[in-house]
Amino acid sequence: MASDFVYGDEWEGREELLDEAETIVSRALSWTGKSWSARGTLTALPLVRPALVSWDGYVDLEAFDDRISTADPEIVVEMVSRMIEWRSRRWSVAERRVMPMPKTWWEPAARAYPQLYTTPQYSLGWADILLAATTWINESETEWAFSDAKEKLGTLRLSTRRLTLDHSYAIVDAAEYVAVHVCQVCGAPGTQSGDFMTLCHPHRAEKSWRLA
Ligand SMILES: [Zn+2]
Repeated sequence: MASDFVYGDEWEGREELLDEAETIVSRALSWTGKSWSARGTLTALPLVRPALVSWDGYVDLEAFDDRISTADPEIVVEMVSRMIEWRSRRWSVAERRVMPMPKTWWEPAARAYPQLYTTPQYSLGWADILLAATTWINESETEWAFSDAKEKLGTLRLSTRRLTLDHSYAIVDAAEYVAVHVCQVCGAPGTQSGDFMTLCHPHRAEKSWRLA
């Protein structure tokens, strides 16, 4: 397993976001135990907040067996890239960290993207994934919508209606797959454990402390 990520020239301070992307991609691809490689370039746009993580692809697609056949590896990697782009919009230059997704994010998001499900039953940490999936599908379809969006046993479960393209279904599959590696509370890289939650290290530690 190997990765080679390059920081764009105009970038500074937000390297943490690229580290997050690399961590999520690594976890999403490495479980096969087979070789893969990835290359990414983080590019800061001079006048706007989002960071673009561009991926030059990776090799050894045959490493993926039937267990994740519904999640195309290339689409999984691009999903991570698009999710990080949404996440980067909350980067605080002053605090040098990603600010939490506001609890009221749903109201402006649903106005902008009516395809979003009206009553999401999942944690805030996966909001960036939903936004990434929605805007990605909207590039090729317009009549579709999510019919359900919920958390179940630490995983993100999505249902849709009126999708027409295989590529769109693959995006939905990738969203669910990537969520397995993203903290459902804050959107940082996360892991699942026996508690049926997907959490980053700080949030799992916090949860353990609360339960102690
Ligand atoms: Zn977290």
